[in-house]
Amino acid sequence: MAGIYIHVPFCYTRCSYCDFYKTTDQQLKDEYIKALCKEIELNRTFFLKEDIQTIYFGGGTPSTLSISELEKIILTLKEFASFKNLQELTLEVNPDDVNEEYIKDIVALGVNRLSMGIQSFFDSHLRKMNRRHNADQAQRAIHIANEMGIKNMSIDLIYGLPYMTFDEWKENVRLAIASNVQHISAYHLTFEKGTLYYDYLKKGKLKEVPEESSIEQFDYLVSALKDAGFEHYEISNFSRKGLESKHNSNYWTGMKYLGLGPSAHSFDGINRMWNVRDLRKYCHALLNDQSYTEKETLTDTDRYNEFVMLGLRTQKGFHLDFMETFNSKIKHHFNNELRHQLKQNNVVVLDGFCFVSEERKMITDSIISDFFYVD
Ligand code: SF4
Repeated sequence: MAGIYIHVPFCYTRCSYCDFYKTTDQQLKDEYIKALCKEIELNRTFFLKEDIQTIYFGGGTPSTLSISELEKIILTLKEFASFKNLQELTLEVNPDDVNEEYIKDIVALGVNRLSMGIQSFFDSHLRKMNRRHNADQAQRAIHIANEMGIKNMSIDLIYGLPYMTFDEWKENVRLAIASNVQHISAYHLTFEKGTLYYDYLKKGKLKEVPEESSIEQFDYLVSALKDAGFEHYEISNFSRKGLESKHNSNYWTGMKYLGLGPSAHSFDGINRMWNVRDLRKYCHALLNDQSYTEKETLTDTDRYNEFVMLGLRTQKGFHLDFMETFNSKIKHHFNNELRHQLKQNNVVVLDGFCFVSEERKMITDSIISDFFYVD
């Protein structure tokens, strides 16, 4: 079983907080499609061996691709991979790319899940984030997708914005619930190096929100979505029952995935590979039979740290039996830390699974770092 991630690096504008690999130069689209199709072909052995369950078009902004460009990619995938057990085909879309015809066309291509970058329902926030859509377009896009029968839609929200009041956050959560979507991802703003917001932070033009505000916003999110019937299945992700993101859940449980496109990462269970984070270099390498990817073999320590990090972010946690796959030093460290974390009521062990207790969810990151093992 495996998933495929396709990175579409094109955006029309740069959001002030974003550090995903992207370009606003649309000129290399044709070359990108050619290079991507070549990369698909080069991975024919992977497609022969693996049962593909999920495909995820992320970015960047996949909805900057035309329907014929998307079709070309999907048809090339179908040439080499079997779609017979495909459960989920997700496309990330920007609200202002959505209209009735667009939804009809992507559904015809097999897309059965949408992930929409809403971020906020307030124009003032969207402008400050340099998003290219406005609040009306956000509402309209969700409405169209609902009307067109999309039954598996996720929206993204951002909290911890320095200029957002608690009442505005409550309103964003209320509108997200009222929008009748099946999945909500909510991420706290982080100031990543290389972004405009990082510069603003360094120059004192923006300040991080106090920790109490972050906790207040997160606690409100969790309780409001719980009351509305959403399951909190991963620290930043909430869904209606049975509509968790299958693709992302596979990442969190350590399944194999193949990443295609510039900057995309892959994991085969032992090795991690990553493609060059530069569209021009990516296209040039692929189209001239040169190397475009790097690889590292995970050590036991890397595997353990990653396993603990991904597992503890999920509601279900990880099964303790899995610890048997690590060396004795790591097992010893884990058992000591587990005893300590259980005493603090930070984690719970139930039916063999270890997970973060409900009341400590907000400090998940610090619990995870306590579990980390350093050689
Ligand atoms: S947040 Fe999305 S749309 Fe905005 S710049 Fe980043 S990848 Fe592009």
